[in-house]
Amino acid sequence: MNQLADSHILVVEDEPDLRRGLQHNLELEGYKVDTAADGREGLRKARDGHPALVLLDLMLPGMSGLEVLRHLRETGHEMPIIIVSAKGQDRDKVQGLELGADDYLTKPFGLGELTARIRAVLRRTQTGAKAAAGDRPAVAGVMQFPDLTIDWRRFSVLRDGVETQLSRYEAEILRMLVEHRGEVVSRQDLLRKVWGYVHLPTTRTVDNHIARLRKKIERDVENPVHVVTVHGLGYRFESPLREPS
Ligand code: CA
Repeated sequence: MNQLADSHILVVEDEPDLRRGLQHNLELEGYKVDTAADGREGLRKARDGHPALVLLDLMLPGMSGLEVLRHLRETGHEMPIIIVSAKGQDRDKVQGLELGADDYLTKPFGLGELTARIRAVLRRTQTGAKAAAGDRPAVAGVMQFPDLTIDWRRFSVLRDGVETQLSRYEAEILRMLVEHRGEVVSRQDLLRKVWGYVHLPTTRTVDNHIARLRKKIERDVENPVHVVTVHGLGYRFESPLREPS
């Protein structure tokens, strides 16, 4: 992997002293750092600059961090994002995680905590990408189910002749459910394996991503046939695998 591309961090922070301090300290740690002073500039640089990771303050002038995050995820940008919230912004923090942030930091934080989080998120997302591309004989290539084809090489699903791209989280959730097809997978297991969280105030994050996944794979989201809810326990992938003819 490209060392430089892997270590390029975009810091989106409107407070000049904090922005400069973060840049200086992260550069001392060996990262290549780009900065943005407001939400719109942050969105543009995140889209165009291909950073390996974005450190995204939530309270920003013009366009909030949550809006930046939402735009990025909606347009298929899957780079890891750590959101930075002030004390008392717990609701925004949870919403950020539900919108697809990878982790969060609460101000004030120390340099040690910051770099530990950055390393953990980069390790987790890069291992995830490698595992997704690597050899897992049970779930690989193209798999066919009644009314649904999953292409793991392209992270896409095909239904009624229409191909739809999955987000990284949707693909990892689906992968875990298909790997354990016929068995119940709990929300906690999904949080731990897909997101890497040990503690999270809500498992609604999982439900929201399942809802989005169902829109892509189910003909009728009210009556799902592939990913079914097992009340009080979690989710189960039910469709039988079709052997290639
Ligand atoms: Ca701010």
